[in-house]
Amino acid sequence: MALSPMMQDYLSTKEEYKDCVVFYRVGDFYEMFFDDAKRVSEELELTLTGKDCGLEERAPMCGIPYHAADTYITKLVDLGHKVAICEQVGDPKNSKGLVKREVIRVVTPGTILSAEELDETRNNYIMSIVCMADRYGVSLADITTGQCMVCEMDTESRLLDEIQKFMPAEIICNQSLMVSGVDTDELRSRFRIAVTALEDFYFDDENCRKILKKHFHVSDMKGLGIDDFNCGTIAAGALFSYLYETQKTNMDQMTAITPYFSDRYMLLDSSTRRNLELVETLREKQKRGSLLGVLDRTKTAMGARMLRSFVEQPLINKDEIEKRLTAVEELVKMPMIRDEIREYLQPVYDLERLASRITYQSANPRDLIAFKTSLEMLPFIRQLLSGFEGEQIREIRENLDPLEDLYDAVQAAIIDDPPLAMKEGGIIRDGYNEMVDSFREAKKNGQKWLSDLEAEEREKTGIKTLRVKYSRVFGYCIEVTNSFKDKVPEEYMRKQTLTGSERYTTVRLKEIEEQIVGAEDRLGSLEYELFSEVRNTIAQNVARVQKTAQAIAALDVFCSFAYISERNRYVRPKLNKSGKLDIKEGRHPVVERMIPDDLFIANDTYLDQNDHRVAVITGPNMAGKSTYMRQSALIVLMAQIGCFVPAASANIGIVDRIFTRVGASDDLASGQSTFMVEMSEVANILRNATGNSLLILDEIGRGTSTFDGLAIAWAVTEFVADTKKIGAKTLFATHYHELTELEGKIAGVHNYCIAVKEKGDDIVFLRKIVQGGADKSYGIQVARLAGVPEPVLARAKDLVEQLSKADITAAVSDIASTKKKVKKTHYDTVDMQQMSLFDTRDDNRIIDEIKELDISTMTPLEAMNVLYHLQSEV
Ligand code: ADP
Repeated sequence: MALSPMMQDYLSTKEEYKDCVVFYRVGDFYEMFFDDAKRVSEELELTLTGKDCGLEERAPMCGIPYHAADTYITKLVDLGHKVAICEQVGDPKNSKGLVKREVIRVVTPGTILSAEELDETRNNYIMSIVCMADRYGVSLADITTGQCMVCEMDTESRLLDEIQKFMPAEIICNQSLMVSGVDTDELRSRFRIAVTALEDFYFDDENCRKILKKHFHVSDMKGLGIDDFNCGTIAAGALFSYLYETQKTNMDQMTAITPYFSDRYMLLDSSTRRNLELVETLREKQKRGSLLGVLDRTKTAMGARMLRSFVEQPLINKDEIEKRLTAVEELVKMPMIRDEIREYLQPVYDLERLASRITYQSANPRDLIAFKTSLEMLPFIRQLLSGFEGEQIREIRENLDPLEDLYDAVQAAIIDDPPLAMKEGGIIRDGYNEMVDSFREAKKNGQKWLSDLEAEEREKTGIKTLRVKYSRVFGYCIEVTNSFKDKVPEEYMRKQTLTGSERYTTVRLKEIEEQIVGAEDRLGSLEYELFSEVRNTIAQNVARVQKTAQAIAALDVFCSFAYISERNRYVRPKLNKSGKLDIKEGRHPVVERMIPDDLFIANDTYLDQNDHRVAVITGPNMAGKSTYMRQSALIVLMAQIGCFVPAASANIGIVDRIFTRVGASDDLASGQSTFMVEMSEVANILRNATGNSLLILDEIGRGTSTFDGLAIAWAVTEFVADTKKIGAKTLFATHYHELTELEGKIAGVHNYCIAVKEKGDDIVFLRKIVQGGADKSYGIQVARLAGVPEPVLARAKDLVEQLSKADITAAVSDIASTKKKVKKTHYDTVDMQQMSLFDTRDDNRIIDEIKELDISTMTPLEAMNVLYHLQSEV
């Protein structure tokens, strides 16, 4: 026995696409066989059946209807598979034997196109990384929008920062990356990024350049503007090879490749991104409750994506930021025009993704109507921009091409309410094309001929109930009920027998049928051809569409910033390069929205690079320390993305990085202890922060014993405050009151606390930051607020009194005050170490002396004397 031809064809396809699940098109289904079928049926809970394959045993098989394919493909891709879609490319009607099939596309996590399955407010990136000696080349693309970037970095941690910034769905890389320090398994398991190492030939330098030159139609790499990036170029070349290979199109939507300089942006490591809840909340991973959730009032999907990327990449160049702020200011000052623009933006569809679908030739007639409806708004929007003077909006206006020619092309050809199907006609407007009109005429005439024929035949045969009918399977026929059977003329040819009637055809009816069906068929294919022509016209102009889409996106972002600035009473921040941070009456952008009726208490923040570098903030739990610190960081960040800020006024010294070390981390899942995570974050900060950074440190040292914790917190404060080491602007919240001793000892350190008022056994949170250290920790009062039962509180109070005698707090204060006496002048770290609480030298000497005593030979009096002497020492 031999395999059936279809199965042979299937297996050879599978051989070619070994690493993919092959979706093999059979009629209205995609079928999977053998191992693919077993695995997929299990993962997607499909029924596993069998199919005759020519062998004795049936081949395991499962199938899905073609129209539901997108959903299944997305599920499989989500599970980490690649899906090769093998279509029937030959026409089953015209082919003898097996219909020709071909893989038309391989869907991978980074190359999903289906609009329904993708979140329209975020990009779906594929990233190509090449690791070479001491550099990493990176290229990034979103094939649904046509965006493509290239960059390079020289350290692994920078690479990881970029990966976590863009969060690609898929990474392709060279083999060297797999053996480098980058933990690709972690990328897979923790961030659910599909990582595939490709063969070395993808990364051939010469070939990569050739591919890029060909794609972008340039004769010299200089023309692309990425010649600074050697490894980056290779990463991009490999990415294009991979895309050609999987997408099987010429990727016309990728019209430009942009060099990306990560030093243009503020550096934010992944824990800072998470801690500040920039685009999603820490716990629920939701946009609601994040900074993005407050700032995003965009009207279009393109705008939403751009706003997200602004939040993820704050700028550091003053002029660039001012340019954005001016745009926001203009839109704040012209609320009527802004609101009108926003109304016109409302019906604008996702032009970027539409344009990509158009170049992929997967856009249907309704997509073109959506495209047209969007373009219709452009001239109005452009018109509204004429009164603006700032550079940013002028630039937007210049880049906003109203695309009237493309509007006209769709308007002239496609009816206003076309069907989804592309090949069944009913798409083209009457009067657009003579042939279409004449086929339609023929169709219409055909109907008339049919009714004429019916009347004639009734007349001729005298059968009153004679009818011309249509069935999908048998086509047109003349139906005669059984009671008139004997009146049926000779020339009628029987076609079909029903219970109460017979169906016939005649030569004339056949003629008419051919004309009608012929006209329908040809009309369908002609309409498809004309529709494709219009689609191609747009495809040829994809770069113009993308440029306009970007302009619309930017306008949408600035309108959104202006709208929330007005609604939430934000102000334009001033920017300076001297490092001064001076916020008056600052508010937390997210927390203030959650508290009703303006109950949020505003607070000032002042830090600079001279005398006010470090603020040590004390105060009981729940007082509002984290809120205060985060609000300061968020205000700086908002200013640097070009948005107004929640404050009465703000003067922001531009920072190069924001670091946060906040609370217990959720990294427990990765198997590290809380303390270990905390310390590795601290290590990262101490190694990478500069004098221009902003540090938010919350409760450092909490994860270990009190002594060690305090010691570490103390040493960290010294280090960050020291201008020779870091000297960064720092907000440091701590429950170690001992740290308030540092004020006056270390230059640049000042104490603040968040005020509370005592009311009998209770406390009232005032939420106001004031100078000075908190004198109590109010732990018991906070416990009472939280509902801890009264007997426990009473017992705790008791214990506090007992413990305070032997309290380490007291011991530490003693030591610190000793130090005050010893060293009044200049602060010196070495000296501090010699005499600090960690020093046990004196005690050791006494212990040594005791050890040396030979008690067996001593008289009681000698013993007494020694004891006396020792006591005088301590
Ligand atoms: P801490 O870090 O000191 O333990 P949090 O910053 O977590 O305290 O604040 C506790 C709660 O107090 C917050 O959830 C918030 O609801 C409220 N809160 C904090 N700051 C303010 C403020 N300035 N105005 C009003 N409520 C505030």
